[in-house]
Amino acid sequence: MPGSQWPWWRTTEHDRMVLPWFILIHLTAVVGLVLFPLPGWPIFLGALGLSWLGGLGTTVCYHRALAHRALRLQPWVCAILTFFAVFNGSGVPVNWVANHRTHHALADTAEDVSSPVWHGFWWAHLRWLWQAEAPSVAKYCPELDRPWYRVWGPLQVPILALSFLVGLSFGFCAFFWLGAIRLVFSLHAQCFVNSVCHSEAGVPMGEDSSRNVRWLALMHLFQGENWHRNHHARPGLARLGRTWRQPDLGYAAICVLEKIGLAGDVRRARAPDSAS
Ligand SMILES: [Zn+2]
Ligand SMILES: [Zn+2]
Repeated sequence: MPGSQWPWWRTTEHDRMVLPWFILIHLTAVVGLVLFPLPGWPIFLGALGLSWLGGLGTTVCYHRALAHRALRLQPWVCAILTFFAVFNGSGVPVNWVANHRTHHALADTAEDVSSPVWHGFWWAHLRWLWQAEAPSVAKYCPELDRPWYRVWGPLQVPILALSFLVGLSFGFCAFFWLGAIRLVFSLHAQCFVNSVCHSEAGVPMGEDSSRNVRWLALMHLFQGENWHRNHHARPGLARLGRTWRQPDLGYAAICVLEKIGLAGDVRRARAPDSAS
């Protein structure tokens, strides 16, 4: 992984806006937390609501529907969920899916783009987002290389500008909490899946390092992505939690969408799964 040898501030040509964006939202979030450490319930719940919708876009649409084809979504439902995923800073669907399929194909090898075992915690958590080579769309997700999905590329900057500024009309406290603080929270929730969820202690290099991380359920607002060992064991299943003790509101949302006819072809385990 050539970029892992670089100083942290060097960026690839294709991802040169990622690091300045991360610096902007982190600095703004710190200022916001100093000025408005307690936002009040309406603004706090508004920020959580936006983060929850964005997380749903990433886990249900990007991850389970597009990357693993564990369900099929109505196209306009897919478009709405994609909007919220882009709005929440998850990037555009074509790149997300190409990166994610690369991760599954090469997981726990030296070529695994976000492996903390091979490249260190901070590379896996953040640095690969601006220092890794671009994933091969032609190899990993050629079916998404069409205008319906590519259109999110040029839309990303205006959507992120809206996302950063969305709270401003409700005052400065809302500006910080609905914008930068929510974006930083959502970013690290997702990054922990690559870093902490691939840091199983005592596993030799090259073997399955994935973990279910219970505390991360809270940061993922109980949408299920923290059950990452379950997911690597059965990546084609729509459900990431295995029992009622592993909350998976992403799957609950899929069941609701299926009931009202907005999702179909949901892939489920045929027999009880004992993965823990
Ligand atoms: Zn993984
Ligand atoms: Zn996956």
